[in-house]
Amino acid sequence: MKQILCSNMGGPADCKVVLMAPTAEGMIDTGWKHLQEAHPEQAKNIMNNPKDVNDKWMSEFKVKFDSLEDE
Ligand SMILES: [Zn+2]
Repeated sequence: MKQILCSNMGGPADCKVVLMAPTAEGMIDTGWKHLQEAHPEQAKNIMNNPKDVNDKWMSEFKVKFDSLEDE
């Protein structure tokens, strides 16, 4: 299981909610659910601009995820 702060996934800089998932894909799901619940305005912006979550973002996120400590 790995952990990342919402703000490190692209959420608001002041959000200190810890998200946990065993895989990068699972973390993206978890982060997206949290974004919709806690930051619906930002989730709406992303849905209106799907280019913000593109292949480049995904590959950068996977590198970041791999660099996290395993808990
Ligand atoms: Zn958050």
